[in-house]
This record gives sequence, C-alpha cells and structure tokens, in this order.
Amino acid sequence: MAPIRVLPPTVAARIAAGEVITRPLSVVRELVDNALDAGARHIDIELSQGGYDLIAVHDDGGGICSADCQLLGIRHATSKLPLDAVLEISTLGFRGEALASIFAVADVEIRTRVSDEALGTRVTREAEMPIQRAPIARRTGTSVEVKRLFRRMPVRRNSADPASEQRLILRWVTTCALVNPAVGFTLRNDDRVLFSSRPAAFQEALENAWGASVAQRLLPFGPLLCGDVQFDGVISGPSTHRSRRDQVVVSVNGRMCSVPELSQALERVWREHLPRGRYPYLVLRICAPPAAIDVNIHPSKDVVAMSAVSGLAALVERELHAVLGRALYQPADTVRLVLRDSSLDGHSASEATAGYETGTGWGQRIVEAGSLPRLRIVGQVDDTLIVCETANGALLIDQHRAHERVIFERLRDRSQQRFAPPIPLHLSGHALRLVEERNDELNDAGWIIELCPPHSAILHACPVGFEPGDLIGILEHAGTESNAPFLAAVACHNAIRKRQPLTVDAAEALLAALTLTTNPTTCPHGQPIILQLDHRFLERQFVWR
Ligand code: ADP
Ligand code: MG
Repeated sequence: MAPIRVLPPTVAARIAAGEVITRPLSVVRELVDNALDAGARHIDIELSQGGYDLIAVHDDGGGICSADCQLLGIRHATSKLPLDAVLEISTLGFRGEALASIFAVADVEIRTRVSDEALGTRVTREAEMPIQRAPIARRTGTSVEVKRLFRRMPVRRNSADPASEQRLILRWVTTCALVNPAVGFTLRNDDRVLFSSRPAAFQEALENAWGASVAQRLLPFGPLLCGDVQFDGVISGPSTHRSRRDQVVVSVNGRMCSVPELSQALERVWREHLPRGRYPYLVLRICAPPAAIDVNIHPSKDVVAMSAVSGLAALVERELHAVLGRALYQPADTVRLVLRDSSLDGHSASEATAGYETGTGWGQRIVEAGSLPRLRIVGQVDDTLIVCETANGALLIDQHRAHERVIFERLRDRSQQRFAPPIPLHLSGHALRLVEERNDELNDAGWIIELCPPHSAILHACPVGFEPGDLIGILEHAGTESNAPFLAAVACHNAIRKRQPLTVDAAEALLAALTLTTNPTTCPHGQPIILQLDHRFLERQFVWR
C-alpha cells in the first residue's frame, strides 16, 4: 500500500461535489433555485444533450456584486445565512455548496451584474485552471453556463442517458413553474422549446402544466390555518387520476419537497378515494414561519421536517376527505353510451321480481339535506344502479358501493351497542383463531369479544346495525382478504349486492343514509359510487346545441 497522504484540494473538491451534483438535473435544480432566491421574474434554461454538454440558466434577478464575485466557486461561500444564524432559512439555498461543487465537476462561466454597478463581472473556470475574473458589460441579472459536466468522471459520463435526463428535467421545470407561478420559465434542449410559461396567476400555471381539461376539473381547497402554518391548493376530483405519483406536488415556502408525516396522511386519502395504485393531481402549498421548518435533514434539501406536523397532517387529511367527498364523478368526454340489445333481456324478468311488485311509488320520493344535492329517486337499472334526478341532471348510484360507504362510516365512527348480559358465541376453532389474530381490528370496529379458552367467546358489544350472528361471516370474509383494510372488507361483506331488486323504501333509506356520510361519492376501496350525467354532458352527447 502507498503511504497515507492528504488529497490535493482539487481532488477532495471533486469527491465532495460528486455527492451534491449527481446528474444534470441536480445542476438545473441548484441554478434555478439560485435564480429564484435572487428574485428573478424570468428564468431561461438551455440544455444540450440533456444537459451533459451544456446547461445554461439565465435570470433577471438581483445579480452578484463584483466584490462578491471574488468568492464564487469557494466552498461554503453564501450570502444567504448571516454569520450567527440559527438555521432559520427562508431561501432555497443556504449551504454555499452548489456553485463550488459545479466548479469542481465541469467548466463554468458566470456572467452577472447588479443594478447599482456600471459593469458586471465574468467568472470562468476551465479544466483545472485557476478561476478567472474580468469586468464585462451586461444587463442586470445572472447567467451561469455549465459545460462538459463530469468530464473527469468517466462512469457518470458513460452511463449518461440524455433523452431520459431531458424528460426528468422537463418534469422538474414544469412542476417548479407550478409552485412559482409568478415567475416565467423557458426550457430548451438543443434549441427546441420544451416548456414555456409567463408570470401568471396560479390557475394559468395549472393549465400550462396539466392542460385545460385537467385544470378545469381541479377542486380548490383552503387557504386554511393550522397555528401559524397556512396551506391551500388544488386536487383532481375522484374520476381524474394517474398511475404515478409524479403530479403530487407539495411545497413548503416555495420549496418542492416531501414532509414525511404529511405524505402518510396523503396516502391515506388516496387509499380511501382512489382505486388502488392510482394517484391524483395535487398541489399543496404550505407557508410556514422559517423557525418552524428544518430543510437541512437531507443532502438534497427535498425532505423537510416541520414542528407540529401531526396537527397539520390531520387538518390536511380532513380537508381533502371533505373536498373529495363533495365531488361527483363526471364521465370523461369521450364516453359513448352504448345500448346493447342484451341489456334489455332481463327487463321483463326483473319486473316480475318481488322488489318491483311492491315497489310502487318510484319517482315520488325525494331525499334531501346532506352531503348530496336534493334528489328525486327515479328508479333502478339492472337491479344494480339507483337512478336519480337532481337540479343538475341525472345521477347513477351503485347500490352496493353506496351501502358499503354507509356501513364503513358507521364502523369507523364506532357507534356501538352493548349487550347486558353479554352474549355467548359458539365459534369454531378456526373462527376463534381469527378473533385472536384480528382482535385489535375487531375492537376498532366496535366488536368487544372476550375469549374464554379453549372453546367459547363472549360478545360484549357490536357496532350499531349489526347482529351478533354477523360476526361469523365477517371473520370468514376478513380471513380471506387479509390484505384489505379490515373495515372496508367488513363493509363489503355486509353491503347489499348488485343485481338485487330494491323496494323504493329501501332505496330511499339507503340514499338518506348515504347523504349523511362524509364521502358519498367514493366507496371504501376507492371506487366511484356515483356517476353524474349533468346537463352539459347530456347536451354534448345529444348534440342539442
Ligand atoms: P447557496 O445558494 O447555498 O448560497 P450557491 O453555491 O448556490 O450557494 O451560491 C453561492 C452564492 O452565490 C449565493 O449565496 C448567492 O449569493 C450567489 N448566487 C448564486 N447564483 C446566483 C444568482 N443566479 N443570482 C444572484 N446570486 C447568485
Ligand atoms: Mg444555491
């Protein structure tokens, strides 16, 4: 082995820089953050070869004065933290690391001027040469050009995939424009414009990023206050979702980031409102006093810790449940309603069933007051869907899912009936094992069961609306669906089925209960309960206008 020696500063810098600047996207992020911190209104980003050959960021922000230019490229040189700072950070950068790191892994040219100096400064560093500085003429603002990134890091250079890097950068810039609507962005790759926006209001930024048809269907929420933290934003309704999380955008004080406890609350919202594995479009903007956040817990600065985050997470979760619960499903514009001959087959048969015989009075019943609009119950289709009229058109309501929702909320709210004296249960060995395994979940749902080994169990309480004997069926059902959330599985098992004729009384009772739930539009598995055929949709489909 060679003797120990201290690495020359250039090599040490390159090693440290490798952690900060891992790919072209990291350069873009750091340079755009700097431009935003400098108060830019317009930021232009140019790439060549996905950023591997060139990344240039031009801004019209405050610039860097010539005295400060002496320090550019030196590690931990920053204007953003006062010397005695307790880490109270209100800028995107604060470590004074980005430029020094970029200097270590690429050729760099910075041209900058502040408004109260006549001349600007050019700072260049090529290959391993010393940093050069020279006065230049230019307008106020800063341009940073980064060339031949990772020239001396063959592994990174060789694993370069310019096309995919360009896609990632495009996605990041698009999101950044959403979080900073007051700033205009352009992104070009080899002279082709990939994205452009002008300084605008939030709504325009949404349309620009996600297209008009998504933007028009977004549901706004907030601003709401949780202590001295404020939040607001938009979320797509339950019929608009994606297979990836990449349009779930959370920002804290203008920084795109994730906040661990909040992410978990958001996941719970998706689980209840969206089909499994689907994610919404969301922008959640949080404004917090700098003292309440810690942006320094992760090298990439994109995980943020917040004090009193549980209260905030709970409020965000409640608000999103409420907003999504009020949203009705809209069929997509492209839906074609096709009436197949076969759908008429069962017509006469179902008319002969008991439900229809006793079901006089369809069309007369009104359900109102609750989370749904005032409804007139028109009838039942396929013994599966309840058809209603509202002031805004027609609703098709899936009776099974509606009932699931009603039962689910009853279980969740733990309304309980107690038995005095308690009721002995005769359970099989298998059922007893299931009670033992899932006793906590059963407890949460309102069943209080005392096990008296080896054979018997005693039931002290069960949720309102259930009979003691229901337990057996529930255990069997839960036993087979061990991954499904328990309450949703129980609700599903006990709900009225599809293809079950209802009397008008039953339909009315079901809808009256549904409209009292907090989220009448999505079943506990995240599937739609209600499809709305509103006037606009009908007009378009029939070409009435
Ligand atoms: P940090 O952003 O953490 O302070 P950087 O290495 O990114 O560290 O930048 C160092 C300093 O250079 C910043 O603190 C800022 O004063 C200055 N600077 C960098 N980019 C710009 C810019 N686009 N406009 C104005 N000042 C800039
Ligand atoms: Mg910075």
